Amino acid sequence: MNTIVTMISEDDTGEIGIDTFGQFVVWINDEESDDRRGYGLVDPREMKCPICDKGWDLTAKGVMDQYMCGRTRASSALVHKSCYVKWKQFDERQLVIQAIDQSNFEMVGIHNIPSQYSSGWNTAWYEIEVDNPNILSIVMGRRKRVYSIEISTRKGINLEIVDDAFKNEDVTKSFNDNTILLHAWSDEKLFEYLTWLSVIL
Ligand SMILES: [Zn+2]
Repeated sequence: MNTIVTMISEDDTGEIGIDTFGQFVVWINDEESDDRRGYGLVDPREMKCPICDKGWDLTAKGVMDQYMCGRTRASSALVHKSCYVKWKQFDERQLVIQAIDQSNFEMVGIHNIPSQYSSGWNTAWYEIEVDNPNILSIVMGRRKRVYSIEISTRKGINLEIVDDAFKNEDVTKSFNDNTILLHAWSDEKLFEYLTWLSVIL
């Protein structure tokens, strides 16, 4: 990253400024060593995050809290990364609840658990308790584009019925005596699989 030629601000966490190419850059001080790391970022000074309707703290750490949300340049919006994570996680919580609600499972509890997908910084995983004596837990969470469903049972699984129900589904799936693992490739498939499982188990 390039050296700052016009300093905007300086604080304990690092420096913010403009480099020789007119780019907005941030140099972050490493808390543990004397190292510094430079990043080219979007200049957020005139912007407001559409999630919280607030601007950015003009500290090195403050402006690092940014994420460009959207697939195309035209539809993108700069948001606080911290806001995006909270919004995304709540959105996925709603999806999980909706998936359970439309099945025959009756939810009695939902718990936020650490993401079990290593690069899932913006995803939340959930453990759901249902009113079904055979089910120990249902764990759901996103792995990149797929939704992972993992069910542990108390009394076991009728493998013949489960194999048969999912025989035409060309997805990652693994069924054994007490666990079911399935990957759903869309929200519709997530809803469908949970409905089938709520009937079978
Ligand atoms: Zn925000």
